[in-house]
Formats: sequence, structure tokens, C-alpha cells
Amino acid sequence: MFLACTRAFSSEIRSFLDRLAANLYLSRMSIRPILTAPDPRLSAISEPVARVNDEIRELVDDMLDSMYAEDGIGLAAVQIGVPKRVLVMDLARKDGECQPQAFINPRLLWASDETTVVQEGCLSVPDIWDDVERPARITAEFLDRDGTLKTVDADGLLATCLQHEMDHLDGVLFIDYLSKLKRSMALRKVQKARRLKEAV
Ligand code: ZN
Repeated sequence: MFLACTRAFSSEIRSFLDRLAANLYLSRMSIRPILTAPDPRLSAISEPVARVNDEIRELVDDMLDSMYAEDGIGLAAVQIGVPKRVLVMDLARKDGECQPQAFINPRLLWASDETTVVQEGCLSVPDIWDDVERPARITAEFLDRDGTLKTVDADGLLATCLQHEMDHLDGVLFIDYLSKLKRSMALRKVQKARRLKEAV
């Protein structure tokens, strides 16, 4: 729509308007740095949200901006240093769509005995991927961004992602499920990558 409306303008004005639109978009975005392991803040037990208000909705928006900026599909508030029980997720992005979801005060109600093994990664443990076994299906309740209590029956990627993100709220990372050797190798790799990045 915006492009169609500006078609009549000269290319100079169009490029000025494009820059203006991009700047307006960027100024609204709030990308916060994501903590990486073994930052002790990632081990915090997150506090429940007392009331879903504008402050929480702003946190949700910042989390989504931060998650999209790093090409992630899920993020817990504690990963940007806010120990509140808030998760965001977008599992549709791989298909080129956007379906942002917020899960506030999520609580596991049921987990299947049947398990599944999925290769997981985490924005707080960048470039490390490994198999984790978890219940294949779960039922959880949560508040959405309007503060409405909802229940979700999840399987597949949603079940894995929800369990991974809910672990963050209790200070648990997916590498905590790996052998001691694999976990310490992963931590060393993450720390080395961070030192290299900081040295640039
Ligand atoms: Zn994670």
C-alpha cells in the first residue's frame, strides 16, 4: 500500500520516504541483548507476573523484537535479564509468516509418558545443538497478552519449545540434560565464541 502510494513521487523522494519509514520502524523496535551461558542470571528462578498490564505487554514486544533479531523461535524473559515468568514464541516463521505468541505464568498441567527426542538449540547457548528427550505431549495453562487464562494441548515442536522455554523460568538450560562432558564442552565453546566476538 505504502509503495503504491509513493509510486507517483520521484525516486529521490521515494528513497527519503523509505529511509524515514525504516527509521520509524527501528525507533519503535527495542532489541535487548540476550544473555549467554554461563551467565549466573540465567539460573534465576523467575517470579510470577502479578498483573498483565502495559508494562508486561511492552516486555513481550521487546522480547519478540529481540528474538526475531537473532532469528530465534522462542525466548524467555530471563534471557534478556528480566526474571519474570513470560515466554514468547513464533513457530510459523520458518514458513515466512509471523505468528507471535506470548505465554505468561505458564504452568504444566499434564505430560505424556511417551517421550520424544528432538535436537534443541538456544539463543543463550549459541551454535550448540544436541538431542534432548522430553514428554511428547503436554497440556499447559497460561495467560495471554490480554491476561486471559488459556489452556494449550501441545505436541511436536510446540510441546518441545514450551518445555524448553518453561525450563528457563526455573533456571534450567537444555545443556543441563547433557552429560557433564558434553555440557562443559558446550560452555567452553560458547565462552570462546563470546571472547572472540568481544575482541573484534
Ligand atoms: Zn533457550
